[in-house]
Amino acid sequence: MKYKRILLKLSGEALMGDKNYGIDSNLLEKYSSQIKKLHGSGIEIAIVIGGGNIYRGIEAEESGINRVQGDYMGMLATLINSMALQSHLEKLECDTRLMSGFNIDQVCEPFIRRRAIRHLEKGRIVIFGAGLGKPYFTTDSTASLRAIEIEADIVLKGTRVDGVYDFDPEKVKEAKKYSELSFNEAYEKNLNIMDMTAFTLCKENNLPIIVFDMNKPGNLIKLVEGEKIGTLIY
Ligand code: UDP
Repeated sequence: MKYKRILLKLSGEALMGDKNYGIDSNLLEKYSSQIKKLHGSGIEIAIVIGGGNIYRGIEAEESGINRVQGDYMGMLATLINSMALQSHLEKLECDTRLMSGFNIDQVCEPFIRRRAIRHLEKGRIVIFGAGLGKPYFTTDSTASLRAIEIEADIVLKGTRVDGVYDFDPEKVKEAKKYSELSFNEAYEKNLNIMDMTAFTLCKENNLPIIVFDMNKPGNLIKLVEGEKIGTLIY
């Protein structure tokens, strides 16, 4: 295996599948079985899920809701997704722990770095919910910062597209996919891989990112085995 400890980032939108809102449980089932397979090969797995399928803080103001309040609503949305994923993983008999960026004691434990690392060492899949627990951040920043804190080898960003392209492949037919890119190239080309905070955190801490298609079964495990899938940013 190429990596020992990974941080998997899944966007909330990916969880929608073909629906317009909420969680597609078939998809969650598929994701869970891939995660279980990877876990079975002895990899330490931490996961961050977004909340965009339920709520995004940035849209709050349009509906008359204060931005900061909206961001907390977005963080709660990530917890809902995290709880759903936790349930699906547990159904597959995976040992999991959900850790939250803010206190919500009846539901899960708070994020404590050393404890998170201990869970991973004991073979538990750790899900980080509620983002960083602070407004004006995103779950991409959460993925980067948590990955650095737990000393993950890589951030695997699972999306609906199979990597980073020079143009939007859904709009431009001739768009070309990069198999790898340095952080500087990605900056220069103004490629939208993660938000700037998240991206800079990875760059400054030499934490590589792979963007890949999570909807293609088998991709996740192949990646960790070292197969070239998606786009590597290093
Ligand atoms: N959010 C936040 N702080 C964080 C993480 C998330 O305020 O540390 C809020 C923010 O409003 C964001 C929402 O939670 O819009 C959902 O997360 P995100 O948009 O990153 O989800 P994704 O795009 O991955 O589905």
